Amino acid sequence: VSESRPLRVAVVGSGPSGVYAAGHLVEHASGTWLDGRMQRCAPGRVEVDIIERLPTPWGLLRAGVAPDHFAKKKVADLFDSIATRPGIRFLGNVEVGRDVSTAELSEWYDAVVYAVGATHGRLLDVPGNDLPGYWTSRDFVAWYNGHPDFTTRSVDLTADRAVIVGNGNVALDVARILTLPAETLAATDISPHAEEVLRHSAIREVVVLGRRSPADASFTNAELAELEFLPGVDVLVDPGSIGDDVFAGTNANFANARRLATLERLFQRSVQGHPRRIVLRFLASPISLEGAERVQSIQIGHNHVDVSQGGRRVTATDQTSTLDAGLVISAIGYRSTPVPGLPFDETSAVIPTSNSRIMTAEGVLPGAYATGWVKRGPTGIIGNNKLCARNAALAVFADAEAGLLPSENTRSFDAVADTLRQRQPTLVSWSDWRTLDSTERSRGYARGKPRLKMLNVEEMLDVVTRESVP
Ligand SMILES: Cc1cc2nc3c(=O)[nH]c(=O)nc-3n(C[C@H](O)[C@H](O)[C@H](O)COP(=O)(O)OP(=O)(O)OC[C@H]3O[C@@H](n4cnc5c(N)ncnc54)[C@H](O)[C@@H]3O)c2cc1C
Repeated sequence: VSESRPLRVAVVGSGPSGVYAAGHLVEHASGTWLDGRMQRCAPGRVEVDIIERLPTPWGLLRAGVAPDHFAKKKVADLFDSIATRPGIRFLGNVEVGRDVSTAELSEWYDAVVYAVGATHGRLLDVPGNDLPGYWTSRDFVAWYNGHPDFTTRSVDLTADRAVIVGNGNVALDVARILTLPAETLAATDISPHAEEVLRHSAIREVVVLGRRSPADASFTNAELAELEFLPGVDVLVDPGSIGDDVFAGTNANFANARRLATLERLFQRSVQGHPRRIVLRFLASPISLEGAERVQSIQIGHNHVDVSQGGRRVTATDQTSTLDAGLVISAIGYRSTPVPGLPFDETSAVIPTSNSRIMTAEGVLPGAYATGWVKRGPTGIIGNNKLCARNAALAVFADAEAGLLPSENTRSFDAVADTLRQRQPTLVSWSDWRTLDSTERSRGYARGKPRLKMLNVEEMLDVVTRESVP
């Protein structure tokens, strides 16, 4: 007798790419599994398990996006509506590599889509990068956003200057969080302990260093334009650091021209005398971090842009200077790390793929796919993951219809949950997450915040165990 059953897919990671992938998988479902192939007959016969190592979903939407970006955080409502579609199930507090192996997932499901993101920050490659007081933006952002792996880290904000190395949107996020008034941060979902440390911060100046010129900076105009309206913060462009071409740059590009116009307005603004300030300094590269016990200063090399031959080359000059700073944060990108059992390209720090299919040295790894930052590298906004996830879902369907999925021993929804529960008794279901979510929201409302984040996994599991209806 031929077996007719749903196509069973695991999506590992509940960040934007994982949630979009799950949504596309059930949305595009238009067939049924029969005789070892996906056949078009009955709609909606796909079951997707989203497996997430934390008890909370949404990846960097929760742990990366800046707490004062309220509109962006609303994407969680869309993700919520996707994750509650029929056929999708959330299995939180389950880590692939710890609670379940990639080999087991391949056996239990017809297909597995890896959407594990980029879990590490790129380190500044200069002497002194091991001194306390130096942070990657990955760790610092995770700290202020209440990611449970980072909440116990201690942050020293007793110096009056911080330096951020990098010229992307994350550098500006961090600069805002370090300078915004305590009452502004208090109305966000910033982690409560970060809020407390920042409330007593001695930092008065945050210098944002860019290696290249204003025309080459990679922050978007929207993020830059926000700096014009920050309450209680002066924003200055260091006039000595903008090079001869100043705001001329590569105006051919509309987005670039708008960004340069914003920078020019900031450049021309007079100082208002606010208690804190952000200084944008260009053509400056870190040479070393200095200090006896912890970071006390950063040595900076001055660069020059050569626009003589039609191109734009940034070269180092022999000029250097030193800036006192008690906190240095590098915002120069994230990095994915290998998932045990899967191939990994160490050079570009991604899972190697071809049309979303994971590739080993021998060829396609049957039934294994990747999407999001772990596939493309750590660039792009939330929306960029939608198409990427759709491509992964389409690859799953194409392979299912071609009979290319190895699926003799797949397990039902219930059988998977039973095995996982034996290994991880506090498996977090969707209704458990709902409990956590509403607990955080109601605690937050009481303090005029969108939510009050729980800071460690134990507390989350405690709430789940106490509140769950048996
Ligand atoms: C600081 C920062 C601010 C940003 N701000 C914005 C913004 O304002 N607007 C915008 O549009 N975009 C923003 N982005 C970009 C956006 O966050 C990314 O495009 C997006 O999060 C990438 O999605 P992803 O699913 O690939 O990875 P992630 O969001 O990192 O999700 C990966 C998920 O996989 C889980 N996971 C990892 N390993 C395992 C495992 N072994 N087992 C189970 N689960 C695992 C993780 O816990 C995580 O939940 C920002 C990015 C950063 C870093």
